[in-house]
Amino acid sequence: MSGGFPNILEELIEKLEKLPGIGRRSAQRLAFHLLKISNKELDNLVNNIIEAHRCIKPCNLCNNFSTNEICQICANPKRDRETICIVETPQDVLAIEKTAQYQGLYYVILGALSPLEGVGPGELNIGKLLNRLSKGEIKEVIISTDPDNEGELTAQFLIEKISKYKVKIYRISIGIPLGTQIEYIDPSTLGKAIIDRRIVI
Ligand SMILES: [Zn+2]
Repeated sequence: MSGGFPNILEELIEKLEKLPGIGRRSAQRLAFHLLKISNKELDNLVNNIIEAHRCIKPCNLCNNFSTNEICQICANPKRDRETICIVETPQDVLAIEKTAQYQGLYYVILGALSPLEGVGPGELNIGKLLNRLSKGEIKEVIISTDPDNEGELTAQFLIEKISKYKVKIYRISIGIPLGTQIEYIDPSTLGKAIIDRRIVI
């Protein structure tokens, strides 16, 4: 669908439209905004995107966003190193950090099982997690995948895998409607869900 704009503008709108959560109207709004900002603002924005893309990588231990080999949470000696909270995305780490109710470490599996979208166990990033559990330092695992279908399926899969190790397994206690996502739960509700975690095994 062409909006009758010059090709170069139409291409920009199409590229922006491919970004997550951006429909045609938002893409147009963003493109028009970008045309109006000063050269300096544009340079700053472009440089910021390039720098973030270049510098941010998954933490070697937990897959969280990091500018170093090891992220700030994994490198923090004050964190409880016997507890690992498993989440789907780095956004979930941020959401749980905001609750200020959790002092342990994280492991980000970078997704969730989704038979409809063709995401199977092979696509989940759990190799480093199992390797770590095999070393015996971790005593407690809190599975905090989303309380939706994919998240529940993933939790079951993780429980099966992790139950082979000598750790206590907990599931975050969701007193919230099924189908919501961890990153959108308000900090006080999410904090309570962590405190009230229920033991699975
Ligand atoms: Zn880390």
